[in-house]
Amino acid sequence: MEIIFSKEQTQNIIDLYINKKMSLKNVGKQLNCSCNPITALLKDNNIPIRKRGETFIGVSKNYKTVGYEKGHKTWNKNLKGIHLSPTSEFKKGLVPWNKGIIFNPNRDFIKKLRSCEEGLKWRVAVYNKYKNICQLCGHSNKKNIVAHHIYRLKEIVDDNNITTMDDAYVCDILWDVNNGVTLCRECHKVVHYGGGDAKK
Ligand SMILES: [Zn+2]
Repeated sequence: MEIIFSKEQTQNIIDLYINKKMSLKNVGKQLNCSCNPITALLKDNNIPIRKRGETFIGVSKNYKTVGYEKGHKTWNKNLKGIHLSPTSEFKKGLVPWNKGIIFNPNRDFIKKLRSCEEGLKWRVAVYNKYKNICQLCGHSNKKNIVAHHIYRLKEIVDDNNITTMDDAYVCDILWDVNNGVTLCRECHKVVHYGGGDAKK
């Protein structure tokens, strides 16, 4: 049976999914339905569906849940004991397998987004919002704190087809302080590269 949403509900769903970054499932719960009609509605409105690993829940309340949805299997779940840190594993003189390969063709553009005036403003606002404290472990040495994009910068760029700085300036989510959280370098690594023991 097809569910017809009112205009208000539609706005609400989009708000929950985009701004509150709720998962499809949780948006469904709010509207008392499964995630299928929610997905269909978002698609009808040309809203890109986030992949599972990118879904963050409880974002506006606290950042304890930064990471993955419950039940999400991290890619390195069964690799316990295998060291994956490039700095500790690469022996002197060993050429990294990816040397010279540009992994992300957008890299320079992403860099520009980070370093432009708006990007710097964003970072300072995130630092200030959380008083330079890691929102996962409470670490507070300012030198080790980074401002992390919850909805990843690269994904925002890809999802919104941002190719120029003009595109970027009019994309609100790029500069939304609510899309940022302060993390220490260690926790930042865990958030980016997974790690099953990241509950600290
Ligand atoms: Zn931390």
